[in-house]
Amino acid sequence: MSAKSSDTAKAKSAAGPTPMMAQYWTLKEKAPDCLLFYRMGDFFELFFDDAKAAASTLDIALTSRGEQNGEPVPMCGVPVHSAENYLARLIKAGHRVAIAEQVETPAEAKARGGSKALVARDIVRFVTAGTLTEESLLEGRSANRLAALAHVAGSDDVAVAAADISTGRFEVVAVPRSQLDAQLARLAPSELLISENLTDLPMSSARQIVHRPASEFSSNQGQKRLEALFGVQTLDGFGNFTRHEISAMGAIVAYLDHVGTGGPTFLQPPVRHQASDLMAIDAATRESLELVRTMAGTRDGSLLATIDRTVTAAGARLLADDLASPLTNKALIVDRLDMVDAFARDAIWRQNIRAELRALPDAGRALGRLVAGRGGPRDLGQLRDALAGARILRERMGQRGDLPPLLERLLPALDGHGALVDELSRALVMSPPVDAAQGGYIAETYDPALDALRETAKDGRKAIAALEAEYRERTGISALKIKHNGVLGYHVEVPAKYGDALMAPDTGFTHRQTLAGVVRFNSSDLHEAASRVTQAGVHALAAEAAHLESLVAAAAARREAIALSCDVLARIDVAAALADHAMSHNWARPEFAEYACLDVVGGRHPVVEAALAKSGERFVPNDLSLSPQDRLWLVTGPNMGGKSTFLRQNALIVVLAQAGGFVPAASATLGLVDRLFSRVGASDNLARGRSTFMVEMVETAAILAQATPNSFVILDEVGRGTSTYDGLALAWSVVEAVHEVNQCRCLFATHYHELTRLSETLDSLSLHHVRAREWKGDLLLLHELADGPADRSYGLAVARLAGVPAPVVRRAESVLKKLEAGREATGGLAAGLDDLPLFAAVMAEEPRAPLDPLRDALGQIDPDQLAPREALEALYMLKSLIAEQ
Ligand code: ATP
Repeated sequence: MSAKSSDTAKAKSAAGPTPMMAQYWTLKEKAPDCLLFYRMGDFFELFFDDAKAAASTLDIALTSRGEQNGEPVPMCGVPVHSAENYLARLIKAGHRVAIAEQVETPAEAKARGGSKALVARDIVRFVTAGTLTEESLLEGRSANRLAALAHVAGSDDVAVAAADISTGRFEVVAVPRSQLDAQLARLAPSELLISENLTDLPMSSARQIVHRPASEFSSNQGQKRLEALFGVQTLDGFGNFTRHEISAMGAIVAYLDHVGTGGPTFLQPPVRHQASDLMAIDAATRESLELVRTMAGTRDGSLLATIDRTVTAAGARLLADDLASPLTNKALIVDRLDMVDAFARDAIWRQNIRAELRALPDAGRALGRLVAGRGGPRDLGQLRDALAGARILRERMGQRGDLPPLLERLLPALDGHGALVDELSRALVMSPPVDAAQGGYIAETYDPALDALRETAKDGRKAIAALEAEYRERTGISALKIKHNGVLGYHVEVPAKYGDALMAPDTGFTHRQTLAGVVRFNSSDLHEAASRVTQAGVHALAAEAAHLESLVAAAAARREAIALSCDVLARIDVAAALADHAMSHNWARPEFAEYACLDVVGGRHPVVEAALAKSGERFVPNDLSLSPQDRLWLVTGPNMGGKSTFLRQNALIVVLAQAGGFVPAASATLGLVDRLFSRVGASDNLARGRSTFMVEMVETAAILAQATPNSFVILDEVGRGTSTYDGLALAWSVVEAVHEVNQCRCLFATHYHELTRLSETLDSLSLHHVRAREWKGDLLLLHELADGPADRSYGLAVARLAGVPAPVVRRAESVLKKLEAGREATGGLAAGLDDLPLFAAVMAEEPRAPLDPLRDALGQIDPDQLAPREALEALYMLKSLIAEQ
């Protein structure tokens, strides 16, 4: 047993007889892996270990309640009205939460079990990272997926089903085991369900793995669950699913049923992908290319963030999906490109459409909440506004005669919501509230009976106001007020000094309450008027609630059509956004060839270019021309010369092109890429403390095993994580294998100049280098690609550029000379080092650089090691140094 749960176990064993604690433990047993939110009045309370974990995550006070075994019971609580905010933080920190609500009123409890009966409580929902629908718990511009895996013993295939229940998107794909991690990296699920029997699958890309009973993965049960959910006799209409695809999808439905404790679930009919429909990009490649997230895990700085000009949240989610899942089917890619092209050609049309889209609310997520039974009036208002906007867009677009084919096919999906939009428009006020509890969301004139109730309430309130005036006049107490609160309802309130006057028997006032400064009364007239107001109010609320229910049902009945419209709006947004970005950055429409080429003229790296632009620097475009005859480029050149940038920009161009977007180049032609690999040598990654030489080799092995003649591979300094000879030998043999066996298109950047000799033996390999010039002792990095090998490595010049002290660089120069002389004489690298002068002697000859205390002090600061307070102190210290200078 872990130390963490020991407290709970001790307490549980001695839970003792208090009925509340007994009830608590019964509930806790149903949710052993969750923090239990136990409803008590206006608070959710947490106890024992749950309380400790929540208090530390939320940074709230840990208190105690009563004693257990002579020790106080740890407790903390969050107010019910702001619970979502706390939930969001707990879920983000990796917790799961079970919500235990009161499921009867205190009156019902009393009637059931006498005056001391405990109100019954039950878990009404499990809040988990993959099953959220609330706006405050989700990021608007990112999908939030729940995935499930199913694996049939003896088969090499694994089925992966994924659902985003906030929008109902549901998909399934079967992949060989070796590509499972790549699929998971593409889907990036917040939660991954696997059978408790499944232990040996490679799954590094899921944030939370949840083991579920094997029975939930039964394909027979799964089929029944899916048929019941979609109300169909057979799933054939949705696709030809294999048993394990059904089992993975069924596990998702079973889990949603569990976490929602049987409440409604929103899933659209599943879309079945073939693994070969999508470009295979494994986790390491995604990470190194920073497609939708940077290596540090942020959206900022990724390709997605750099090019995202979408104006709707659904558009942003779709763009992220597109970049994460480039296609391999040329017709589908060309369809998307035609749409981008149409928007690119007509700036005014594009701007108009984008302006319309920008005003549309996120109807997909509003629908998700409504169907899941967690929606409110505002969600209906969002549906109304989005679907009404869709109708206008549809009309605008329909007027054009030259629509691209995909748009022509998609547009009709925006039709058909007229009746619902009209109904919602009539029924709802302009800006309906989030919460239905206070009413006021059904528009006037929608329901005459509701109007009458409101009128009665209004009359009653008028009558109360008139009573107040009358009472003031009759009693002569100008400070008399009629007030309302939850306990007394409407009542008369006077300052304490007038209390006695109203206490007299014939005043018509009945005393209700005396407080420090005021005395409160009731009267029969007031009681009567108040009852009219209250009753009318209660009836009006009930009438509104009934309308809400039927409006939600009307929307839910059209959920598939609405979800489809939302998808179409998102697709239009993505195309217009990509066109907008392409036009303002001079990007070009890629062309596709039938053979394995990759011809790029004037290619750029969009993220590096954007970063340079911020400091007013220019990005130097470079060309690439790979073909079956010249398919492997060996790129050499100085550190910081731009090798990695060149490699990555071409991989990004492939991703963007096959995602259906324009590319950062003057022109680009490519044969479709089936798999994309990017590997960075261990030495380049060591700074992150992540990659080791072993990982580098495992990843290299995967490329050699999986790359096909249609793949594109970039290898950046592979082999540098080990000793020079080992690394060189490995790099050498990897280049040979890629060239001879995989025969894929490949860019290989290296500092091993020895590798350039491979061009003598490998026909389809050519040599290229990034140019640099040394001028008056300074190194000029031109970032320009040229043919042939680099003339030298410039490592020492880069070191000087980086501020390595002159004596150290000089020392390195003499070591280098010796090494080179030794190698020429004996062929051994370390030969000739024996007669080097001592370092101290070299140092002694060097004039010391003038002291710069500010620079020294700055050099000693490691920002990653500083607490915020220490950072502040360091700042003060630096400022005081400047003052001293
Ligand atoms: P190393 O061998 O040390 O890994 P490298 O040759 O791979 O270096 P990069 O990391 O690609 O070099 O580039 C270093 C920096 O040079 C980039 O961060 C960028 O600021 C700049 N740079 C790279 N390519 C270009 C370019 N084409 N135009 C302008 N600046 C560039």
